[in-house]
Amino acid sequence: MPYKEYNLLYINEDKTNLNSFEKDFYRKFNITTTKSFKDALGILTKNDIHLIIFDCQLAKTSGLEFLEEVKKKYPDIKCILLTDYDGIKILEDSFDSINLWRYILKPYDSAQLIVDIENALETYQLKIDKDKLLNKLEFRKGKYQKMMDTAMDSIVTINDKHEITEVNIAACELFGYSQKELIGGPLSMLIPENKRKAHPKLVKSFSNSEQKTKRMGNEDSYRYGLTSSGEKIPIEVSLSKQITEEGNFYSAFIRDVSNRLKREERIKESEYKLRKAQQIAKIGHWDLDIQNNILTWSEEVYRIFEIETKERELTNEFFLKNVHPDDSEMVNLAYTDSLKTTKPYSVNHRIQLQDGRIKHVHETCITKYNEYGKPIYSSGTVQDITTQIEAGTALKKSEKKFRTFTESLKVAVLVVRDEKICYVNIECEILFEYTKDELLDMDFTKNIHTDYISLINNNYNKRLKDEIFDNQYDIKIITKSSKIKDVTISAVKIDYQGRPSILVSFLDITAKKDVEERLKENALLLSKAQSMAHLGNWQWDIATNTVTWSNELYNIYGLRKDTFNASFEGYIERVHPEDKDCVKAIIQRALRNKKVVHFEERIVRPDKTLRYLSSWGSVITDKDHNPIKMLGACLDITEQRNKEKELLEITNELEKSLRILADKNNELEQFAYITSHDLQEPLRSITSFAELLDLQYRGKLGDDADTFISFILKSTKRMRDLIHGLLEYSILGKERTAEKVDCNEILKLVLEDLQEVISAKEGSIESESLPTLNAYPIELKQLFENLIGNALKYSREGVPPIINISSRKQDDIWEFKFKDNGIGINEKFYKKIFVIFKRLHSNEDYDGTGIGLAHCRKIIELHNGHIWVESIPNKGSEFYFTIRM
Ligand code: ADP
Repeated sequence: MPYKEYNLLYINEDKTNLNSFEKDFYRKFNITTTKSFKDALGILTKNDIHLIIFDCQLAKTSGLEFLEEVKKKYPDIKCILLTDYDGIKILEDSFDSINLWRYILKPYDSAQLIVDIENALETYQLKIDKDKLLNKLEFRKGKYQKMMDTAMDSIVTINDKHEITEVNIAACELFGYSQKELIGGPLSMLIPENKRKAHPKLVKSFSNSEQKTKRMGNEDSYRYGLTSSGEKIPIEVSLSKQITEEGNFYSAFIRDVSNRLKREERIKESEYKLRKAQQIAKIGHWDLDIQNNILTWSEEVYRIFEIETKERELTNEFFLKNVHPDDSEMVNLAYTDSLKTTKPYSVNHRIQLQDGRIKHVHETCITKYNEYGKPIYSSGTVQDITTQIEAGTALKKSEKKFRTFTESLKVAVLVVRDEKICYVNIECEILFEYTKDELLDMDFTKNIHTDYISLINNNYNKRLKDEIFDNQYDIKIITKSSKIKDVTISAVKIDYQGRPSILVSFLDITAKKDVEERLKENALLLSKAQSMAHLGNWQWDIATNTVTWSNELYNIYGLRKDTFNASFEGYIERVHPEDKDCVKAIIQRALRNKKVVHFEERIVRPDKTLRYLSSWGSVITDKDHNPIKMLGACLDITEQRNKEKELLEITNELEKSLRILADKNNELEQFAYITSHDLQEPLRSITSFAELLDLQYRGKLGDDADTFISFILKSTKRMRDLIHGLLEYSILGKERTAEKVDCNEILKLVLEDLQEVISAKEGSIESESLPTLNAYPIELKQLFENLIGNALKYSREGVPPIINISSRKQDDIWEFKFKDNGIGINEKFYKKIFVIFKRLHSNEDYDGTGIGLAHCRKIIELHNGHIWVESIPNKGSEFYFTIRM
C-alpha cells in the first residue's frame, strides 16, 4: 500500500526523540512536523491530515486539551500517542475523550511504530472505503426514491405480507395519504372493500408465475383504487416483482385514468357535437377511392342530396349526375384541374334533387397522391348553403329596394358603420360636393363642423345602444369646397348588410336660415324705418286688457318702457282732453263694427307738448266674431301739421300781397289811363299852336326860330305817340271778349295793313297754315302787327326782309314762331326788350316808342301764355309765343 498519499502530522516537543527512526519514517510517509499545538491546529485546518503522531508530555502540557479539541473538530483523524507511564495514568481517565488509535510506551521500537502507523492508515482506508460504499448505497437509495417521486405514475411496493414498503409522491397524492401513513400499512387500505378478498390471490398467482411484470385487466378495463376520503378512482395497474434475499417485493405502477376517461367522454361528446354541428351546418363529408371509383358519403351528404338508400354503390359519375346540369361541367372541370395542379379547391354549385328542387352547395376537395404522383383518393366536404344564398339574394333585393328608395329621396342620406360611411345617395354627393367614391369609407365626422363633432359622436353611440336622444337637431357641415352649410340632421339605427348601422339624413336648411336672417334684417330695418317715420304700433289683448307698445310708440308718447306700463286706460289718459270723447267713440265703433278705423288725435306728452297722430286700428275676432284683439299703428304727423300750418300762413300772406299788388296795378293802370288821357288835351293844344306858329311865322322869325318850331313839332308828335301808346297799353284787354279766331285771317288783315311797308322794303312773308284759337281777336291782331312790323323795321341794310311764320301744337298748347333775317338781338337784351319804353336804338337809327313788345307780352299774358326771343346778331331773330287752346 503506498502510504505517501497519506498525510501525517507529527507533533513533537523534543525533536531529538525522533532521530532513531527518522530515516524510514520520512521516507515512507508524508510528514508535517511541528512543536506547538497552535501550529498543529493551523495545519489541521489547512491540510487533509489522516493521522497524528503525538509525542508530548500529557501531564505537564495542555496536550490532553489539544487532543480533546482535535477529537471534537476532526472526529475521523486518529492519533498514535507516544507516551511514558505517567501519561498512561492520565490517559486512563480520559481515554474515551480523545481520538486515540493506540498508545506506545516509550522507549519504543521504531520498526514497530512504523507497522502501527501502517495498520492505522489501512484501517483508516478501510473505514473510508466502507463509508464510500455506504454513501453510494444511500445515494442510490435516494436516487431511486427520487426517481420514484418524479415518476408520473403512482408506485406502491409491498412485501410478501402485503405490507406497503415504498410509495412515491404521486401515490401519496393519488390516494390522499402521507408517506408515513402509507409505509408499513396494509395494501388493503388502497383497495375498495369488495375487491380486498380477491387481491391476495391475484398477487400470489403473479408471484408463482414466471412473469416479472403483469398488467392487471385487459386494454379496455380498469380497476378502482380507494382514497383516504373513501372515493373510488379508476386506475390502471401493472405489476412487477423483485425477488431479494429479504423476500419478494411487488411494485404496482398505478395510473389514474379518470382524466383519460373524462377525455374519452369529452372526445365522444365532441364527436357527437361535431356530428350535430355538421348536421346543423349542413356539412357532409365524402371520400373517393379514385382507383376503384368508390365514393363514400357521410350521413349528412345523403341528407343534403336527399337520397335515402345508403346501400347504393356510389361513384363519381353518380355524384355528377346529381349536380345541376348547368354546373356539372364546371364542377368536373374544377376537379380535373385540381388533379392536374395537385392543389385543393373549393367551388359553389347547384345540385338538382330528384323532385327537381335546386339546392346550393359549397364543395371542398383535397386529393392524396402516391409517391409517383398518381392520385389515390380525394376527400372533401359538401355544405348546404341554400339558405345563405337565398338570404343573400333576399338581402341584395332588400338592399336594392333601400337604394332605390333613398336615391329617390330629395334628402341627403348616408349609412354609417363603425364610424365610416358605407352608403351615400346622390343628394349626399350634391350636399357634400364629394363624389360617391370619395365619400365611401370616409370618417363620418370628417364633414361635420368641429363645434358639433362631440355632439354627433355622443349621439351616434347612444343611437347604436338604442338609448333615447333627440331625433333631430340643427348642425353645420363643411363641404369639399369649405362651404359651411346649415342642416337638420336625424339618425336612426338600421340593419345594413346584416350589421347594426346608423342611417343619417341631412336636410339642407341654408336657404331657410338665409330667409330667417333676412327676416331678422327686415324686422330690424322695419323697426328703423318705423323709428325714422315716427310710426309706432300697438296691440291690445282685450280679454286680459294687456297692451303692448313698440319702442317707437314709447318715443312718440315721450314715455319710457321701464317706467310706464302700457294699458288702454293709460293711453286714454294721454289723449288731448278735447279729443278724448271722440277717440273713445271711434274705438267703441270699431269694436262694434269690427272694421278698420282711421282717425287723427292729439296726445299730450309728460312735458305738456302736443303731438298730432294719424292712427289706425283693426279688430281681430274669434270664430264667433267676438273681438279678442285690436292691432294698430300711430304715425306722428306733428311735423307735417306744423308745416301745413306754416304753409297756410305763408299762403295767406301771399294772397294778401297779391291782392295789394293787383290793387296797385289797377291803380297804376287807372293812373296811366287818366294821365295819358288827360295829357292828350294840353298836348293837342301845344301841337295845334306849334303848327300855327310854323304855318304863320316860318321864315319870318329868323333861322333859329324855324329850328325851334320844328323841334317843338317833332317833340309834340313824339309825346303824342308815347301818350297814345301808354293809353293803349293801359286799356289793353279791358273790354276783351274771347272768341274763335282764325289766325290765317288775322295774318291776312295785318299784311293788308302793312302792304305799303312790305313793298317799300321788298320784303316777303311766308306762312304755314295757322290754327283757329279761342282768343281775343283785337289783341291777337295787334300782336301779329307788332311782331311783323318789328321784323320789317329791324331788317339789315340791303337785305330784303324775309319773314317766316309757323305754328306747332304740343298737348293743348300752340307754339308760334315769327322768324326774320334782320339785325338780331344780343343775348343780354333778351329780357329787357319786353319791358315798356325799353329800346335798344335811338330814334335817329330806328323810329319807335319801346312799347310794342311790352304790348305783346301783356297780350300773351292775357292768353295765359309765354313770349320769348332767340336770336343771332346780324343773322336774324325768332320770336316765340304760346297760347293755350
Ligand atoms: P320800338 O320798336 O318801338 O323800339 P319795341 O318794344 O317794339 O319798341 O321793341 C323794342 C326793341 O326791341 C326795339 O327798339 C328793337 O331794338 C328791338 N327789336 C324789336 N323787334 C326786333 C326785331 N325783329 N329785330 C331786331 N330788334 C328788334
